[in-house]
Amino acid sequence: MQAIILAGGKGTRLAERLHGRPKPLIDVLGVPLLERQLDALAGQGIDNVVVLVNHAADQIEAFFAARPPVPRAKLIDDGAPRGTAGAVLACLEALEGRFLVVYGDTLFDIDIAAMMAEHEASNADISLLLHPNDHPADSDLVEIDGDGWVTAFHSYPHPPEADLRNLVNAAFYICERSALEPWRESPTPLDFAKDLFPRMLAQGARIRGYSSFEYIKDLGTPKRLDKVERHLASGVVERARLTAMQRVVFLDRDGVINVQRDYVRTPDDFELIPGAVEAIRMLNDAEFRVVVVTNQPVIARGEADFDAVQRIHARMESLLGAGGAYIDALYLCPHHPDAGFSGEVAALKGPCECRKPATGLFEQAATAMKIDFAASWMVGDSTSDIEAGRRMNLQTVLVETGTGGLDNKWAVQPSHRAANLLAAARLICASAMKLDITQGSST
Ligand SMILES: [Zn+2]
Repeated sequence: MQAIILAGGKGTRLAERLHGRPKPLIDVLGVPLLERQLDALAGQGIDNVVVLVNHAADQIEAFFAARPPVPRAKLIDDGAPRGTAGAVLACLEALEGRFLVVYGDTLFDIDIAAMMAEHEASNADISLLLHPNDHPADSDLVEIDGDGWVTAFHSYPHPPEADLRNLVNAAFYICERSALEPWRESPTPLDFAKDLFPRMLAQGARIRGYSSFEYIKDLGTPKRLDKVERHLASGVVERARLTAMQRVVFLDRDGVINVQRDYVRTPDDFELIPGAVEAIRMLNDAEFRVVVVTNQPVIARGEADFDAVQRIHARMESLLGAGGAYIDALYLCPHHPDAGFSGEVAALKGPCECRKPATGLFEQAATAMKIDFAASWMVGDSTSDIEAGRRMNLQTVLVETGTGGLDNKWAVQPSHRAANLLAAARLICASAMKLDITQGSST
């Protein structure tokens, strides 16, 4: 595997912290960022590294001369700023058939082999790392279909009323050289996210989104740099590894996050319950993974198709994102056990393994992340939610919003009761803090 580091950035916004160095050499807790990137790559067996330099190339050359040699590192200075894609296209013939593109201003701790496995299995031209963040409104967002294929790119700024899922392009790509070759003569400057990828998509390129909660952040401003340093020092970066056990708060949707109605069929039927944004942001900050598990029999009954439900979730993620909150994953059951509705989808009728209180949605989540179930929670408004949580040995919170537990379908007692999601989040965070103190954890 070959990695290309785009190290041509000036770092104008970081000037006060650079003291004359180029951005890739910014000091991050006493270690230049480029050193951290090389370490992260070497830790995964990647020593074939091409560093594309431009601004202050002499300083980056001096940096390489002064450190233990990277066996297969190569510096290329193409002499002109061409934009991220332009710089890679300009040296394409020096690159291997498949390579990873890393931006010189990001700190990352990503299981590249896992991303590569999915890239290979899908036979994609390009794979993009996607993740939710707490400021999607000023991020480049990507739309994917149910199978993970990119269907649209949305560069910020976004129109105020746009309902977009919180799928941020993290600027970490696996590329097939053959897919880039037809674009070599494109005029520059050319940016991957804003120019090249949207054009490739329009021409039918197979571009895939690889969603992950692993750590990657750009530190292009003093404020972001401070945040990354705090995260490094406190272990946030390591705890977001795929190999680390995750504490999850599973949330039911209707009646917990949003106001329960007979049907939620369009985005306009979706109204957040007061406090939901603050609650989810609190869980994000406490390093819980927030996973929505929702029964959506509207799909089986033919009242809303998958696209309509996607649009509802885009509205949900936009509303949450506007308040700095995000969910890490969402799993839904589209089935319904009883036939007899006009317009129903026959294939989705009948018993299934995923309609809560069955546990299929939780098991799907467990294939995507290592879950510490004993330290994880289920928050719901129905006895089916609480029963599902009980079957998974989760701690459960029944909220008084929505059904408020009055469905009486399952004779099950929750571990806790709370007025609403915000009260539940406070209870969960307080309980987690107590647990951390008794276990002597630094979190
Ligand atoms: Zn199901």
